[in-house]
Amino acid sequence: MHLARFPRVKICHAPTPLEFMPNLTKHLGGPQLWIKRDDCTGVATGGNKNRKLEFLMGEALAQGATHIVTQGAVQSNHVRQTAAVAAKLGLKCTAVLEHRVNTNDTAYLDGGNVLMDRLLGINIEYRAGGTDMQAAIEEVGAKLSSAGDKVYLIPGGGSNPTGALGYAAVALELMAQANEIGLRIDRLVHATGSAGTQAGLVAGFEALNSGIRVLGIGVRNPRDKQEANVHKLAEATAEKLGLKGGIRREAVEANCDYVGEGYGIPTQGMAGGCPGEC
Ligand SMILES: *Cc1c(COP(=O)(O)O)cnc(C)c1O
Repeated sequence: MHLARFPRVKICHAPTPLEFMPNLTKHLGGPQLWIKRDDCTGVATGGNKNRKLEFLMGEALAQGATHIVTQGAVQSNHVRQTAAVAAKLGLKCTAVLEHRVNTNDTAYLDGGNVLMDRLLGINIEYRAGGTDMQAAIEEVGAKLSSAGDKVYLIPGGGSNPTGALGYAAVALELMAQANEIGLRIDRLVHATGSAGTQAGLVAGFEALNSGIRVLGIGVRNPRDKQEANVHKLAEATAEKLGLKGGIRREAVEANCDYVGEGYGIPTQGMAGGCPGEC
């Protein structure tokens, strides 16, 4: 796995810390729990999308792009991080936001990531829920191109084989940290949505022959669809990395039992009204 063969801009605060969680481990009485602090990647409060943006923006700069176009739900973390990295690199940025969650709550419509997007000075366009958002950015991108901009499109969540390289890089970073401190990792659990994080991790861990099982906790799709999306992207990422033999289907595992009513709709458990045990 030779990541230096791909254009990349180093924007993340990395390596992110790998920390033991003694209290949660004790509380749950289960296995030893550690956390890889990818909330601390820097750039507009951090998060996982900055990892993908290192390779996506690297490719954009290599192609001479002047204008980044991407999409997400209204409160997209991906859009906020893309807006920040584009600002840092002096690139124009347009985001197409989908009203995926049906709400009139002004905290949702104007606060949080939307406030950050506006502070970062990007152009925002809105579309109704259920819009084909990939088609929407292609359309917006075509208009900007004909007006003279050199456009680079980033899919939702930054999840394509280029973006997923960011999490293949994390697989490498984590293995180095674990080996350094003599930590044997059996399983890695993370949230999975647009699939790039899990695809990159799975491809990276396969390339390293790590023996670590990855479990994605779904935030949107039913399990079959999520696993199929991740597997397809992991295969494409492995191919980009020059990995022979593809990705085993069993290496892709998701649990989508916590989606609740739908994407972005709080469940009782996440709101703290925990039924039963806690
Ligand atoms: C985007 C996101 C995810 C999911 O990552 P994908 O690569 O889209 O699957 C998980 N957690 C947070 C906080 C995110 O913003």
